[in-house]
This record gives sequence, C-alpha cells and structure tokens, in this order.
Amino acid sequence: MSKPDIELTAQNKCSFCAPSTCCTYITQPFDTPRSKEDFDYLLWQVSHEGVQAFKDPEGWYLRILSRCTHLRPNGDCGIYDKRPQICRDHSNDWCEYDIDVRDEYELFFDSFESLEAYCRKRFKRWDERFQE
Ligand code: SF4
Ligand code: SF4
Repeated sequence: MSKPDIELTAQNKCSFCAPSTCCTYITQPFDTPRSKEDFDYLLWQVSHEGVQAFKDPEGWYLRILSRCTHLRPNGDCGIYDKRPQICRDHSNDWCEYDIDVRDEYELFFDSFESLEAYCRKRFKRWDERFQE
C-alpha cells in the first residue's frame, strides 16, 4: 500500500487506508496443530480462497478474508454507534496499515503450497501419512 507524503495522525490515517483493511477479514483461534492429521486438515482449509492461517505468541488462528457488510464504500462504518466491542477495541495507532501480515507473525500460510513446504520440514515422513 503506498503511503502519503504527509504526516500521518490518528485523525487522518484511516482516510488514506483503502479498503479499510481492518474491516476486511476475521480471525478465529484454533487448537495448536501437532499431528500430521492436524496439518493435513489445515491444508484443506488454506486451500480455500481467502482462508489463511497464522501463529503468533498467543496461538494459532485462521484469518478469513471477508469484507464486513457494514463497511461503506467511503470507508465509514455503517453501524458505528452499534459496532461490536472488538471493533471498538481496535486502535489505528499501530495497525494493518503499518504492517505486512506476512512479516508480522511467527508463521503465516496463505496457500496449500506454503503450508505443505512447512509440513515437509516439520515431518520427516510427510508423504507417507496416507499409508500410516
Ligand atoms: S485502523 Fe488501520 S487498518 Fe483500519 S482503517 Fe484505520 S488505518 Fe486502516
Ligand atoms: S462493524 Fe464497522 S468497524 Fe466493525 S468491522 Fe464492520 S465496518 Fe468495520
């Protein structure tokens, strides 16, 4: 995302953020995957368009790209006074505008191929999982 050549403040920052990135996905925690079966299941999930997985210090999450239905074309929230708590808690002080999610997490997978490469490193006999 290209950044404007002016000083960004909490007041003006969101107006430069199209398409209001923080309103275009949801996350869902899931139990730490440990077995080949767990990772094989995750492979199926990230094979779907818009489904990603990441690990941060708090654990593993699915990241599902899906634009909020309340996000207006101009970037405003259509239910601002009634928006859920998680939206109220989100600060633009250091947010999705400032980071590349690929660099932000300990692990990040956005495709079958990226997760499969990780599985091959993690499990010696990854290819034999269907015979076991
Ligand atoms: S809080 Fe961050 S990600 Fe969300 S609209 Fe503002 S600048 Fe964009
Ligand atoms: S409810 Fe409003 S603030 Fe929350 S994700 Fe949707 S558009 Fe964004």
